[in-house]
Amino acid sequence: MAAMLRATALRARPTARMLTARRSLSTLLIAEHDGKTLNPATLSALTAATEIGKPVTVLVGGENAKDAATAAASAAGVSSVVLLENAALAHGLPETWAPVVVAMQKEGGFTHVVAASSSFSKGVLPRVAALLDVAQISDVLQVKDENTFVRPIYAGNALSTVQSHDEIKVMTIRPTAFEKAAAEGGSASVTEGTVEVVAAKDVAWLSEEVKKSDRPELASAKTVISGGRGLKSAENFAMLDSIALKLNAAVGASRAAVDSGMCANDMQVGQTGKVVAPDLYIAVGISGAIQHLAGMKDSKTIVAINKDPEAPIFQVADYGVVDDLFKAVPELESRLEQK
Ligand SMILES: Cc1cc2nc3c(=O)[nH]c(=O)nc-3n(C[C@H](O)[C@H](O)[C@H](O)COP(=O)(O)OP(=O)(O)OC[C@H]3O[C@@H](n4cnc5c(N)ncnc54)[C@H](O)[C@@H]3O)c2cc1C
Repeated sequence: MAAMLRATALRARPTARMLTARRSLSTLLIAEHDGKTLNPATLSALTAATEIGKPVTVLVGGENAKDAATAAASAAGVSSVVLLENAALAHGLPETWAPVVVAMQKEGGFTHVVAASSSFSKGVLPRVAALLDVAQISDVLQVKDENTFVRPIYAGNALSTVQSHDEIKVMTIRPTAFEKAAAEGGSASVTEGTVEVVAAKDVAWLSEEVKKSDRPELASAKTVISGGRGLKSAENFAMLDSIALKLNAAVGASRAAVDSGMCANDMQVGQTGKVVAPDLYIAVGISGAIQHLAGMKDSKTIVAINKDPEAPIFQVADYGVVDDLFKAVPELESRLEQK
């Protein structure tokens, strides 16, 4: 009996050590890409992933994603890239993606599963966390150590330092809180993934309407001009487009502007919209409710145009114009034309 126990213990010990070694292996970063390059938010999440202090493996999935995998391999700080070339991953369906990420985690023994905060990761990562039976850590703003992270609470009005005791950390990263990793400078290897990809049965991608625009993307634009309820109609809201063109800016909106049909809902900035931190944010006819501030208060310079001098937006604004926007906005535009 003693001999049997000893034999079992001898067999068990290396396995446990192997498991620990596997567990300390690395961080899995789920990439978003356009088939050619990594999305800027993923480069910011890569910076956060490298701050965890472990080798970073990037998962690039989709159809015709080879160039994106090559781009990921060139990004600074990437240790390896796994390419999953599969049409079922092309449109980011979370029901298909989540089991794939879980299978990757189990196969690689990753201790951290990370993605940039986005509509895609908001669908995929909570499912991954649920399947792994761990708590997701959302919108990480700072990595203190491999278990400790800072994240916003109460619509960004307070910061919470959380320590996770889960064996696997599933985390989304707020892109505006981290510099983008350099797209060049790395020389990681790309391998073809071996996990099985099974298209989810109950959901299917039918079509998508992608607005073609030469403008910068809202989440990563250096200048953003946003409109609120003060603009009153979709026709008036369109005033912001010509200014945006002159400033090479993206156009954003408050939820009131979106809800009243003045503009598309992917333009919403705030707690339940996009979080932006451009060099210049111009708020036009926006009162500055905390839910809106949660999405833009980290902008470097904030300019507010509002006819109400008591509007809360002026508390966060660096420059305030107390005036009727229907007078101030055309004036701003004509000044820009003179430049
Ligand atoms: C759970 C939850 C989540 C939310 N998420 C978001 C979010 O993500 N983003 C978001 O924006 N909101 C969000 N909201 C809504 C938020 O509380 C506010 O209702 C919204 O931001 C108000 O939008 P607004 O500033 O455009 O409108 P208002 O608050 O109505 O402000 C309009 C402003 O325009 C000014 N104005 C009017 N006419 C003129 C004029 N002619 N010239 C100059 N100024 C003028 C007024 O003085 C006023 O300050 C959320 C709310 C909840 C409860």
